Amino acid sequence: IVLREIKVDGYKEIRRLCQAFNEMNKRIVELDKKRRQFVADASHELKSPLAGMKVLVESLIQGGFEDKAVRDEFLQSINKEIDRLSKLVNGLLELAQIENADELKMTSLNIKELLKEVIKSLEPIAKSKNISIYLNGDGIILNLNRDNMFRALYNLIENAIKYSNENSKIDILIERDDVAKITIRDYGIGIPEEDLPYIFDRFYRVDKTRARKTGGAGLGLSIVKHIIKLHKGDIEVKSKVGEGTAFIIKLPLEV
Ligand code: ADP
Repeated sequence: IVLREIKVDGYKEIRRLCQAFNEMNKRIVELDKKRRQFVADASHELKSPLAGMKVLVESLIQGGFEDKAVRDEFLQSINKEIDRLSKLVNGLLELAQIENADELKMTSLNIKELLKEVIKSLEPIAKSKNISIYLNGDGIILNLNRDNMFRALYNLIENAIKYSNENSKIDILIERDDVAKITIRDYGIGIPEEDLPYIFDRFYRVDKTRARKTGGAGLGLSIVKHIIKLHKGDIEVKSKVGEGTAFIIKLPLEV
């Protein structure tokens, strides 16, 4: 009887091990697929500004230099493409850095003070569109990695400005519940419902032509999502086309 029991237990154990290995294998295959997709997407994103520059430089070589107006226009276009490439490369580096970080150095910080700093650094851009930013709610001390949380809040508020019309406003609200809740609300162009599930994906842009004008690489929100995840928090979005967008961050309270 004892032997039979051991046999049955052994069989169960092996089956459990097999299941665990299968799960692990599935996960590795998934990760590998994601990595390949990422390399393909990144290469594609890098290729298009390069192709644009190549065409412009070739036209200049073929005689565009003789006409000053044409030359100036082409050089400005090349300059813009270089800016796009730099943004993309910087975004990729930032994303890689955040994804490689297992653990972040955390300190106790008042989220309201941090938000004030972010707003201050974005003031020139907000002013250029005559957008007012209002910050409401009491400060809460949270366990944060300063630089990364600064980056996340910066990306969200910068987007709120970028995707709002002139003379608009942005409302930022801090609330305390069983978590700390930060809402960043704009009254800008909004995001179509069908795009909402994808906006945190890398390189995702709702309107590629518009993104080209505003110069986004579609990496900002995926960086935000990673940073919030590293803080064991959560982020969600609510939006209506023509009415505006609200990003809601939930962060654990300091224990
Ligand atoms: P980008 O660098 O292109 O702004 P993000 O990852 O920051 O990339 O955002 C992805 C897309 O989500 C943007 O291209 C834009 O279409 C949309 N988006 C983000 N924030 C807002 C917002 N506040 N209002 C409207 N659309 C937004």
